[in-house]
Amino acid sequence: MAETQQAAESLPDIEIYNTLSHSKEPFRTVAPGKVGMYLCGPTVYKPSHIGHMVGPVIFDTVKRFLVYSGWQVTWVVNITDVDDKLIAESTARGMSMADLAREMTADYLDNLAALGVDGIDEMPKATDHIEGIIAFIQGLVDKDFAYAADGDVYFDVTKDEDYGKLTNRSVEQTQGEGGTTANRKRSAADFALWKQAKAGEPSWDSPWGPGRPGWHIECSAMSGALLGEHFDIHGGGLDLVFPHHENEIAQSESLHGCPMATYWMHNGLMQAAGAAGKVGGRPRDGGGEPADQAATKISKSTGAEPFKDLLTRHRPEAIKLLLLSTHYRSPIHFGEEPLGESARALEAFERLFARYERLGGPSFYGLPGRDRQAGTVAVASLTGAVADDVAALRTRFLEAMDDDFNTAIAVASLFDFVRLVNKFIDSQGLEKDPPAAERQTLDQVMLVLRELTGTLGLFLSEPSTISGGADEALVGSLMDLVIELRARARKGKDFATADLIRDALGEAGIQLEDRADGTGWSKK
Ligand SMILES: [Zn+2]
Repeated sequence: MAETQQAAESLPDIEIYNTLSHSKEPFRTVAPGKVGMYLCGPTVYKPSHIGHMVGPVIFDTVKRFLVYSGWQVTWVVNITDVDDKLIAESTARGMSMADLAREMTADYLDNLAALGVDGIDEMPKATDHIEGIIAFIQGLVDKDFAYAADGDVYFDVTKDEDYGKLTNRSVEQTQGEGGTTANRKRSAADFALWKQAKAGEPSWDSPWGPGRPGWHIECSAMSGALLGEHFDIHGGGLDLVFPHHENEIAQSESLHGCPMATYWMHNGLMQAAGAAGKVGGRPRDGGGEPADQAATKISKSTGAEPFKDLLTRHRPEAIKLLLLSTHYRSPIHFGEEPLGESARALEAFERLFARYERLGGPSFYGLPGRDRQAGTVAVASLTGAVADDVAALRTRFLEAMDDDFNTAIAVASLFDFVRLVNKFIDSQGLEKDPPAAERQTLDQVMLVLRELTGTLGLFLSEPSTISGGADEALVGSLMDLVIELRARARKGKDFATADLIRDALGEAGIQLEDRADGTGWSKK
């Protein structure tokens, strides 16, 4: 039934890797044409770092691509604003937990905005859902999946036959939290749903006395309240698979008696850059098994500094391009070097955009986007020498995205797209006296590029500049102009001017390289 309905609405065939089955599965939604997607958000006790931005960038792209392909998507990212870490940090800073949460949530939102992540529909805060969380826990107690013990409430993992199904482990293999609460639990693997408040800690009244919710129960309660008992996609970093997601499944499925989410998607974690691949040339390795990355979390380095500090040295566009140049299930090689590489790769796009404007075209950032169906119609009507190549690159891009959102191959095909357009401009002599038909074809081709980059959330607004740093896009387009003036001088046998340009650039620290396919430049 679902299949016929999807076909009737001509939704494309997409496959998603599901951590639950360890395999790629055809994408089928609970409600035809609609997608409910939940991503575990941050615990807001410290400024966010790059690790907090990976999930939002990836799932923002997932949403963009699904919407582009014809689905209606509701995306929820929660904010954990009550937690042991928040209590400790707010005490250390001498402020209330609510004020600390407000400050760090604002920091998180600023960073999302810098990266152009604007597709989140709901950002529920745990403290706004205490009533629903208590009702959820009461439901588990009533069904005998949970028990109260001295003001705490624990989930009884021995009552849940399925416990461990996400990570294929038995109850005996799991170790619960130790410490002072260990003796209140029936078995070590049981986990807290409700924690009794100590004196002076923020607390809410409950049937078990004053306390606060555990971390796992927040996500079960809020996803259920906003997306329903069974929704489509649950996402998060690989570090959340166990125990967090295993426990979410245990809570939600024990209470509701149905699957919590159909697809469990997990993104790879940050790794300090070592054997990183090239950003612009070829895709990095495709996603490996989650277990391969168990211990790869980045520690003290670029990855751990506040994201706002990173933004003083690197443009958000370069950071975003780097994240998307890796398949989302692979570890992300992160550091100054890959970021620099990504910034240079970005210039290939920005030089083409500047070139297009020099040819009389509009700003690429202002071009209209379009959906997948409209794009297919437009590409079919393309004519001329470039039509087949454009169609083939678009197909490669879409096939990569349909195959578990392989942004690595999608990004690589965009670089090929840029090369193709530059070649087209050169071969058709569009820089000089453009024939009208070819000039129109160029407009159509740029719209295809805009269609595809838009699904990744790239180039949707004018590029940002680094405060105190050089405006790389401006330098790029000025260099294009200087190189063209020098080429004209040489063509007109005005070698004195050509040499003057080269020498002056040399003094400014810029080296020209004359190659068979034109003149390139680099900083000395
Ligand atoms: Zn969660």
